[in-house]
Amino acid sequence: MSAPDDLTPRAASLDAADPIAAARSRFTLPEGLVYLDGNSLGALPSHVPDAVADVVRRQWGHDLIASWNTHDWWGAQTRAGDAVGRLVGAAPGQVVVGDSTSVNLYKCYRAAARLRPGRRVVVTDPASFPTDLYVLESASRDDGFEVVHASPPDVPALLEERGHEVAFVSLSQVDYRTGERWDVAGLTAATHAAGALALWDLCHSAGVMPVDLDALGVDLAVGCGYKYLNGGPGAPAFVYVRRDLQADVRNPLSGWHGHAAPFDFGPEYAPAPGVTRMRVGTPPLISLLALESALEAFDGLSPEQVRAKSLSLTGFFVECLDRLGLLDDGPDDGAGTGLRLVTPREPDRRGSQVALTHPDAYAVVRALVARGVVGDFRTPDVVRLGFAPLYLSHADVLTAALALRDVLAGGEHLRQEFLERARVT
Ligand SMILES: *Cc1c(COP(=O)(O)O)cnc(C)c1O
Repeated sequence: MSAPDDLTPRAASLDAADPIAAARSRFTLPEGLVYLDGNSLGALPSHVPDAVADVVRRQWGHDLIASWNTHDWWGAQTRAGDAVGRLVGAAPGQVVVGDSTSVNLYKCYRAAARLRPGRRVVVTDPASFPTDLYVLESASRDDGFEVVHASPPDVPALLEERGHEVAFVSLSQVDYRTGERWDVAGLTAATHAAGALALWDLCHSAGVMPVDLDALGVDLAVGCGYKYLNGGPGAPAFVYVRRDLQADVRNPLSGWHGHAAPFDFGPEYAPAPGVTRMRVGTPPLISLLALESALEAFDGLSPEQVRAKSLSLTGFFVECLDRLGLLDDGPDDGAGTGLRLVTPREPDRRGSQVALTHPDAYAVVRALVARGVVGDFRTPDVVRLGFAPLYLSHADVLTAALALRDVLAGGEHLRQEFLERARVT
């Protein structure tokens, strides 16, 4: 089936007016694929294979151990950190790349708890990504603090009441399932008013919107390297520590790469000055240098331009769903399409994804993949579509919406082959 008459020219005019459309040519994607999973694994920037080949062939293969100095492998964690910092509003010297998001969360939780001795409560959103919750439970057992759950809109009232007991508030800027974007400025201010520390997880915001960490006075932050930063599978994550806190922050995983004088090989730990103390042990250099190289795909693009494009893509997708009559807003009586919009319509409250619920969400995602539109499924019933502003066009968005219409209209998702769950969804 074709598109309603005006949607194709509308996509074309939005693309013609897109100031960052040329960034698409910086990426390698299979011909004809509409890739809406950059929030799980970002696409490959075209220059990265040669950069990685150089790391492997020349730096590792030829220069060997000398590369720690000659190619400054030692400085890669803070160099890449500063590059990430430019995307999240952090001046140099406050971000380190290394370890996974899970490990960085553990470091931050315990570091934050120690910065507020005497306060025994920490606050988090029960809808957080599971690893954030699991690791917080484990840190709370190690340090003996109490975890209190509150949805972000309920956090200010909780702080009014119990703020004097709260050591830190740990939240994600964008909900990984619903795509709802929370108010970092307001929630950070409420947290500070209670004398607590604000820790933000930027996994679904770094690389798609301005974050303004320094300007908002955020204390600690973490985020993922392999999602919208396009660092490649298993790319290391990042951790931010506000400059004024750095001298007092204690990394609970006090490894030798965070030592003030690692090559003295002394028996006792002494933390490095600055954010470098958040390092632990030898980083996965091939991955780290791949991420550092991948970040060049953002050269010349401001976070504001990237955000404007992101909102234009998600807004146009919702517009297409409306125009194609794909969204149910009536009673749940089985008469409609079964597809409901979970992500808020207000641009301010939206991350860079659109989440839809459907009773057969898993099979819908599989049927879309079979049509060359790649999104993912999140239990129990969410079709999750991520819109990476650097390599998607409005024409791609329309293609995805039409594919969704055709899947549902043709009952393609009812096919047996789409029902069986793969190991990774
Ligand atoms: C993707 C994601 C993670 C992933 O953590 P890893 O340690 O890289 O597996 C953690 N938290 C959030 C909010 C995420 O979106």
